[in-house]
Amino acid sequence: MRRERLQIFLKENLLTLLTISGVIIGIVLGIGLRAVPAEGEKWSPRDVSYISFIGDLFLRMLKALILPLIITSLISAVGSLDLSLSGKIGGRAVLYYITTTIMAVILGIVLVVVVQPGKGADASSGNITAETRNVTTTDTLLDLVRNMFSPNLVQACLQQYQTVLTPPKDNPNEPDLNLWSVSGKYTDGMNIIGLVVAAIVFGIALSALKEEVLIVLKFFQQFSHATMKVTGWVIWLSPIGVLFLITAKLLEMDDLGVVFGKLGLYFAVTAGGILFHGFVILPALFFIFTRQNPVRFVGNMSQAIATAFGTSSSSATLPVTMQCLEEKNNIDPRVSRFVLPIGATINMDGTALYEAVAAIFIAQLRGLSLSFGNIVAISITATAASIGAAGIPQAGLVTLVMVLDTVGLPAEDVSLIIAVDWLLDRFRTVVNVLGDSYGAAIVAHYSQKELTAIPTNESNGKVQRNSMGQSSETVLFEERL
Ligand code: ASP
Repeated sequence: MRRERLQIFLKENLLTLLTISGVIIGIVLGIGLRAVPAEGEKWSPRDVSYISFIGDLFLRMLKALILPLIITSLISAVGSLDLSLSGKIGGRAVLYYITTTIMAVILGIVLVVVVQPGKGADASSGNITAETRNVTTTDTLLDLVRNMFSPNLVQACLQQYQTVLTPPKDNPNEPDLNLWSVSGKYTDGMNIIGLVVAAIVFGIALSALKEEVLIVLKFFQQFSHATMKVTGWVIWLSPIGVLFLITAKLLEMDDLGVVFGKLGLYFAVTAGGILFHGFVILPALFFIFTRQNPVRFVGNMSQAIATAFGTSSSSATLPVTMQCLEEKNNIDPRVSRFVLPIGATINMDGTALYEAVAAIFIAQLRGLSLSFGNIVAISITATAASIGAAGIPQAGLVTLVMVLDTVGLPAEDVSLIIAVDWLLDRFRTVVNVLGDSYGAAIVAHYSQKELTAIPTNESNGKVQRNSMGQSSETVLFEERL
């Protein structure tokens, strides 16, 4: 009897167990292999690239899914809801995103002000220099809004807009960035927020036109099913993919000791805060609002958690997050496919907390005393910086420049914390992904009644067929045509 139960458990949780083993083996292997070269020597970049090869393939497959998944899931979800309901669901999601992001920022500020990790610490940045660019907070925010409205959707799949500041010719050392001249350029990287906005608008149009465009809606729904099917296959590679990603990253790092050395307290405060938010505060909110068991919920998300940890990218993890939410936590796909792509783009609790802690830590290092007004300004820009950060590795480090700018700290100061950023990034990505997932579950819970009132012609991507082998959808669809 017991054996049977164990067998069922193993069968149901095989992939999760394999992925967790992948993370653990990756860490052990990475630390173990670091000891292989002679004392003081490092693995060559070429050797590391061989080790990261498999992980890289996994990452490439996930990245390939982002574009079709975001577009088709948003269009099919928004298109299948009526306008007032999608407004309500969107409104609930945004309310959740804003509230939890602000909670994360406040938690971060309280921790860093109480513990004071930057007091008396050594402000030398060692030999690590960060590549930074000069930006003002206003330009970053305006760029975010500009990118929402991409003039060319094909270009949005490849590039995004960025304001460039150039110092005046007669005074190249001008400290006031507002006196620099302004121009714009397109930089490489998918403009996800532009695509999200375009897909939502297109979905709304489909919903407004109803029966007239049923065939287009069907197309996107079925495209979305097919993408999720591919995701289901790619997920089986996650144990091995995550293993190699983690091993290679550990081999690449300069000095692991630094994590627990000079920046130890900063690391502990930030990681502790991020994990507390993701594994205590958010689950508590989930329980309060839904009365469901958060432990089981998190357990069901473990695939997504491991992938977020391995890839450091919430966008690349999105396909896995969606799969775990729909297949394991049984969240209505009309909610998950609508709110997850938006969440993965703008809702980043881990990043928000980190931005606030990092900026105040650097100010403490520099011996800057912050007024209450400064702290309020930091919390507002930290929230904005987390919204502006893309779901890609270390995007938070780039937008941190904008938070530093509000208290007059130079962009180069990010080099003070860069040594541990690769590891903190993994923790914040995990919590960013968890935050989106809890949000989708809470919104789905509150939208349940309204959703059941709307007949769905789509049941979790699983199509029911009649004796002719035709799906009920096909019959309904053909009748309508
Ligand atoms: N890597 C994070 C993410 O993808 C963003 C960040 O750098 O904080 O969610």
